[in-house]
Amino acid sequence: MTAPARITVLSGGIGGARFLVGLLAHLRATDPDGRGGTRTEVTVIGNTGDDIWVHGMRVCPDLDTVMYTLGGGISAERGWGREGETFTVKEELAAYGVEPTWFGLGDKDLATHLIRTQSLQSGYTLSEVTAALCDHWQPGVTLLPMSDDRAETHVVVDDPDQGRVAIHFQEWWIRHRAALPAHAFVMVGIEEARPAPGVLEAIAEADLVLLPPSNPVVSVGAILQVRGIAEALRSTPAPVVGVSPIIGGAPVRGMADACLTTIGVQTSAAAVGLHYGARTAGGYVDAWLVADTDAEALEPLRAAGIAAACAPLLMSDPETTAALAAATLALVPARWP
Ligand code: GDP
Ligand code: CA
Repeated sequence: MTAPARITVLSGGIGGARFLVGLLAHLRATDPDGRGGTRTEVTVIGNTGDDIWVHGMRVCPDLDTVMYTLGGGISAERGWGREGETFTVKEELAAYGVEPTWFGLGDKDLATHLIRTQSLQSGYTLSEVTAALCDHWQPGVTLLPMSDDRAETHVVVDDPDQGRVAIHFQEWWIRHRAALPAHAFVMVGIEEARPAPGVLEAIAEADLVLLPPSNPVVSVGAILQVRGIAEALRSTPAPVVGVSPIIGGAPVRGMADACLTTIGVQTSAAAVGLHYGARTAGGYVDAWLVADTDAEALEPLRAAGIAAACAPLLMSDPETTAALAAATLALVPARWP
């Protein structure tokens, strides 16, 4: 079997990272390079809209989730942060009474943030820092931040004392568990944010572009807001295939339904596919994979010009996730040699 030479994936954190594990497993099993790897070059464009300054450190949750997951260092139980983590520094900071106390800063994880912050402060770009961190983790993909510029998602909410305010996405997501009614998402700094080096090329020159089951609003949606990326996705000659993060009307993990409700999109596999829209109609996807239990989504998707199919979409272990990746690749008529 042949595989595309270059696959580019637009990823958030846990949903994207788990999908990538399966994608690499599938590629290594079906198109080996003889050294247990794959001949397919996988480039990941990571969401940096969730990035935040915490206690003087620059934290990039989605980049780190991809890097730790593919590098074998992720906490399997939590899906974020490091395996075997302790939280001594976090507890000491809380004892001083300094905010934010709600952010999960692990001791091992701190090493990554210290290196990143120090490097950024000495003038390296986030792309350069990410490449250096990946030298250590060897994720088996090229991980590019969507932008080297700061553009952070904020959530417009009603504060009992201050009225309508915009709080950082992480405060809404972690501290408030996405339970505070949100009026809108705004990306502060997005007007000035340029795509990081290599990002537009990775989309334009790919043989296949994948939207993994990442949050369509604050992960993939944030990446699409960076200048030029939406247009690159619309115009790439590569097919664009997406996988639904919604199964049976609910996000599998997390609170993506709260994000979808805020932007007026129903929490269903069909509605998210239609929200991305068919590329033939000015949207972002050619094909959309839904869960085998969501067969009623196929008809409206196809009617809108999106090729659609069903497959088991639960990423419970690397084997089922590899099968999911195979189903995703099978959704496009292979155009690669
Ligand atoms: P985050 O940045 O850590 O929130 O991660 P992502 O944006 O990459 O992915 C979050 C999305 O992954 C959530 O909306 C979930 O619905 C989705 N997700 C998590 N686990 C699974 C799974 O096993 N299967 C599918 N299809 N989606 C999943
Ligand atoms: Ca995220």
